[in-house]
Parts: sequence; structure tokens; C-alpha cells
Amino acid sequence: MKDLITILGAGESGVGAAILAAAKGFAVFVSDYGTIKPVYKEKLLAHGIPFEEGKHTTEKIVPSKVAVKSPGIPDSSPLIQLLDESGIPVVSEIEFGAVFTKGKMVAITGSNGKTTTTLLTHHLISQALPNVGLAGNIGTSFAEQVATEDKEIYVLEISSFQLDGIKTFKPEVAILLNITPDHLDRYDNDFSKYAASKFRITENQEAKDILIINSEDEGINTFGKNTVIKAGQIKIGAPEFDGQFLTVQGSTFDMSHCSLKGEHNMFNASCAIAAAKEMGVSDESIQASLNTFTNAEHRLEVVAEINGVSYINDSKATNVDAVYYALKAQTQPVVWVVGGKDKGNDYTPVFPLVEEKVKAIVCLGKDNSKLLETFSPMVKIIEETDVAADAVHRSFIYAEPGDVVLLSPACASFDLFKNYEDRGRQFKDAVLALKEKSDSITQNTIKE
Ligand code: ADP
Repeated sequence: MKDLITILGAGESGVGAAILAAAKGFAVFVSDYGTIKPVYKEKLLAHGIPFEEGKHTTEKIVPSKVAVKSPGIPDSSPLIQLLDESGIPVVSEIEFGAVFTKGKMVAITGSNGKTTTTLLTHHLISQALPNVGLAGNIGTSFAEQVATEDKEIYVLEISSFQLDGIKTFKPEVAILLNITPDHLDRYDNDFSKYAASKFRITENQEAKDILIINSEDEGINTFGKNTVIKAGQIKIGAPEFDGQFLTVQGSTFDMSHCSLKGEHNMFNASCAIAAAKEMGVSDESIQASLNTFTNAEHRLEVVAEINGVSYINDSKATNVDAVYYALKAQTQPVVWVVGGKDKGNDYTPVFPLVEEKVKAIVCLGKDNSKLLETFSPMVKIIEETDVAADAVHRSFIYAEPGDVVLLSPACASFDLFKNYEDRGRQFKDAVLALKEKSDSITQNTIKE
């Protein structure tokens, strides 16, 4: 009889793991406590993989050799506890995929900057070398790619939840960007547990592997003291950037045509460049690819300029650290759109930047009391709304030519929006509608 692999959670990673398990000749059963999206149901049906939804039938799950768990299911859930007690290994999809790939892996983790650095690293490597996959928290799951068209190199964005479920995962190159408090609810509100999870990216690495690590990050330096690192280390500190040229390991790159802006992005770029160099990409190729890189939406994304005011969508800035860097990157006075579901934020680190740069605040959230209380003594104009378009209109009133309107919320989006993408799109739609209006007024004035 075939060994059984159970997949818990039928999202992108779960369905990918199911397809891989089936391709490798295992019996597979998929169990999802919620509702499975139609697109994933169709995939499971197409591969002849049995599944259930709305429940976990323990009798069907317990005979498993291994269970692959979706990152969304906490270790504290009763089913995971039962599997642990039954001695059934519970792993993440990254672990499961890594067992079967023949490709090399470049894995990126951190509290902030994962997506940006993963996309840039993938761009730098894939422009120079063939057959480079992009996976992890982005796009098609790693396991499905391993099952259907295994790549020679994978660039993987890895969350702490994925790292919680590894056993043997060993990337040839790992990047640890930074460790600041986030998702602490999943770690018993214990920062050291979250940090330990991030450090697991290097736990199976050997001396021949490489860890690119932030040497000036407080979280990394505090918790790294107790971590044994066997990999060769490339330490990246404050970026060596003079406003135009970025120097990484003795090579200098002109960043004037690169769309990434701000000190944090120069740091991300330094890590991505170091990883690409490690994979054998030439400096010439890196320079050419830096010039053509486009980041994902909602990360310091310039939406439009209206009457000399630049509108920036940084909806993905869902914690204070990301906002710190967003404000730091601004050279002009800022009308700051902030707010949403507070995650226990401590705003102290941004006080000096707010005092220096922010001329008006528009709070965009259901409950803005903490923001109003915190920032009223610092900023004269502070208003609130619960509609994205209204936040744009109010910002338009306060911004003067040369200013920036920056949506950088520091909070989750779930109080008013489906997710951060929805919040960013509503902001962008309102900005673009305003631009259209303003352009037509200008044209009519010229005609008259
Ligand atoms: P992640 O995938 O880790 O959430 P993203 O690249 O999506 O990271 O960026 C999330 C937010 O963090 C954005 O607002 C972005 O501007 C900000 N950010 C990006 N890189 C860094 C960094 N190195 N340090 C702090 N904030 C960053």
C-alpha cells in the first residue's frame, strides 16, 4: 500500500504540495477546515486528488506518514497537537518541496523587505541565467513548480510560518534582512520565539553555504548571539550609497535608473546583489537588470503627480518599521495617510521623522483614537475618515506643489478593507480619478 501524505489547508501552497505528493507516487488526502476556493478545487479534481472541506476527519488524517500544513494553521490548533502526539511529522510546503527539488535555493526572510528583495534577486539572476523559479509567498507554489517543471535555481520568499515547519530545508544562499516585532500573536507574544523562527533559515546550512545577514539590525544582533551559524557569512550593514552609486562587496552600481528609492531599498538591493554575485551573475548583467526592475504594487509606488504633488501608495507598510523607512525616504513635506487595524503599535521610533517632515495627517481607519492622541501634539492638521477616496480628497486640500501625499498606514487593513491590496487600489483609484479631473480642468482652461 502507498504511504499517505495528508495536506492540511487547500490554498496555493497546500494544493501545490498535494500535486507534488501525487506526482511522487504517494497516496494523498487534502483536508481544509474552511471552504476551498473553486480554482483550487478544480486543480485537485483535475489531478484526481481526494479532499474534504469544512472539517478535518481525524480518522482519515491520522494514518499519514507526513502531514503538510498550510502556514495559516497555528501549531496550537488541536489537530496539529494530535498529530504531534501521534508522532506524525508536520512540515511546511517549503520543506516538502525542498526534499524533491534538484535545484539550488536562494531563500529570503526578514520582517520587512522580503517581497521586494525576492523579486529583485529573482530579476537579477533570471536575466542572466536560464531556468530560474520564483516562489515561496509569491505566485505559483514552490511544490507545484518542483512537481511540474523543476527549476535549476529557485528564489524563495520565506515567512516565519514556513520556517516553523522545516526539518532539513537547506538553501545554498540565505538572506536574513531584519527582525522587528511582527506576528507576535502566533509566538505567545514572545519576540525571542519569533526571532528564533527567522534564524531557522540558516539552521541546516553548512560551511559551503552562504548567509547574507544584516549586521546592523538590533533584533538580529540581540538574538543572533545565541545562534550557531555554520554558513559562510556576508555581512551587509548600512548601504554604501552616495545618492547615485551603490557599492556592494567592492563593485559599484549606478542606481539612478533603478525604480527602487530610499535607504531601506538600497539595503535590500545590496543583499539581492550579493546573492546574485554568489550565483555567478556578472556586475555588467546586474547593472543592466537594476535599470529594468519593477517592484510589486503597494510598496512606495508612485501613483501620479497632480498639481506638483506626488501621490505614493505604500499600503503594504503594515507595521511601524516599514513606515519609518517610508518617511525617511521622503525629501519633501509629507501629508501622511495612516491608520487601520492597530497591531499594538509603538509609534515612538517615527516621532522625529513626523516632527521633521509631516505637515498634515489624515487618519484612515475605523478607530483612529490612538493616532489622534499620539500625533495631535506634534502635527497641527490631523483629521480622520473611514473612506479611502475621502482621505485622498482631504490630502489634496492640504498638499501644496512640491509636497508628497503618502499612504503608509502602519496598520493592518482588515477594519475597512479586504486586504492591503484592496486598500492600495482604492487609494490609487481615487488618486487617478482626481488626476483625470484635474487634467480635464487644465485642458479646458487652456482652451478657454
Ligand atoms: P515583506 O514581504 O517582508 O512584507 P515588502 O517588500 O512587501 O516586504 O515591503 C513591505 C513594506 O516594508 C513596504 O512598505 C516597504 O516599503 C517596507 N520595506 C521594504 N524593505 C524594507 C526594509 N529593508 N526595512 C524596513 N522596511 C522595508
